[in-house]
Formats: sequence, structure tokens, C-alpha cells
Amino acid sequence: MTSIAQHIKELQASLPAGVTLVAVSKFHPVEALQEAYDAGQRIFGESRAQELVAKARVLPKDIEWHFIGPLQSNKVKDIAPFIHLIHSIDSVKLLQEVNKQAAKHDRVIRVLLEIHVAEEETKHGFSVEECRELAAHLPELPHVSISGIMGMATQTDDEAQIRREFRTLHQLFEELKAGAFKDSDDFSILSMGMSHDYRIAIEEGSTMVRVGTYIFGEREY
Ligand SMILES: *Cc1c(COP(=O)(O)O)cnc(C)c1O
Repeated sequence: MTSIAQHIKELQASLPAGVTLVAVSKFHPVEALQEAYDAGQRIFGESRAQELVAKARVLPKDIEWHFIGPLQSNKVKDIAPFIHLIHSIDSVKLLQEVNKQAAKHDRVIRVLLEIHVAEEETKHGFSVEECRELAAHLPELPHVSISGIMGMATQTDDEAQIRREFRTLHQLFEELKAGAFKDSDDFSILSMGMSHDYRIAIEEGSTMVRVGTYIFGEREY
């Protein structure tokens, strides 16, 4: 068995029921994705529209493609025909653009609101406070379905800090689920946890982990 296949199988076997694995394949060649596919993986996450579209064209059609990186409005149209879930909605303007492009394909696109809880200034997303306000005043957009939230913890070795940030995300998720999104059956995804912190994320209530390096090795940019 290849090491990619081995890592997929190990991860799939170790994740608790109710936690979905997104294999983050950005910057890796289609051969690597095919190996993961052959080991049973069907959900892949990419962070650049052009790369995602090129891979989707040549890989099996039953793959669920997730968009996980910063998304420019002018790239939404490229992924709108087939994208399964966009994890990285960080503005109302982007949400409106997804709604508009989804309408052209007569689709409802599932999306997550990205929440900024990390220390780093560079991370995208709404603050917890912004998200609360937004959720209360979300415009009615019939071609998007807000299915949950996504967040990243600070890049640090301090496990207590990572745990605190994941806990904040979980609390916000529960608050929104019981509040602004209480009438939406689709609001069910808490996307948090990457290679170095997915175990903590799961302990703190993650329902979807986004794992790249652990599966595919280091990326060459
Ligand atoms: C790249 C990326 C990941 C995967 O990170 P790894 O450390 O390689 O597991 C997860 N989430 C987002 C948003 C990413 O950009």
C-alpha cells in the first residue's frame, strides 16, 4: 500500500462517527489524489479555483469538491457549476456572488461562514461578534444554504490556546444552531482541525476535519 493510501485508511478508521474527513490536496498532483481516491476517499479540499477546476476535469466524477481557501468574487463562477461546499465565506458580498452564480446553474450551493478566532492578523473571516450580527440580519438568498461555520486555530504549540479557540468556535456554532439557524436542518457542520490539531478539534466538537500534510506530505509551493 502507498503511504497516501495508508494514511487515508488510518485516518478513516480513527475518526469518530459523525466526523467527516476532507482530504486537503492543494498543490499536490492528480496522481496523489487518485491514490487517495483508490483508498476510498471521496471528499477533497482545494484552495485555488483554477487548480480545483483542472483536477475536477480529469478525476472521477463522484468526488465531492470542497473549496477551503480565500475565494475571490470573480472566481466563484468557475466553481459554481459543481462545487459541493465552500468553507470560506468571509463577506456578505461573497455570499451574494455565490447566490447569483448558483442561480445561473439552478443550484443551491452549501457554504460555511468562516470565523476568525486565531491570533494572527492575516487569517480571514468574520469575528464572533460580526457573525452574530450578520446571522440576525442575513439577507434571504435562495441559492445558498448556510450549513455551518469554519475556523482555524492559531499556529502554535500551545495546546491550551488551540483548545480555547476551538471551544469558542463550538460555542458559537451551538448558539447559531439554536438561534439564528434554528429552522435550518442544513446548519450542521463545524469545520475545524488540520493536520497538527485535528485531534484537539475533534475533542472540542468538530464534525469536519481538513487534513492535508498528514495525508499527502509537505506541499511544494
Ligand atoms: C491548507 C489548509 C488545510 C490543511 O492544512 P494541513 O496542515 O496541510 O493539514 C486546512 N484548512 C485550510 C483552510 C487550509 O488552507
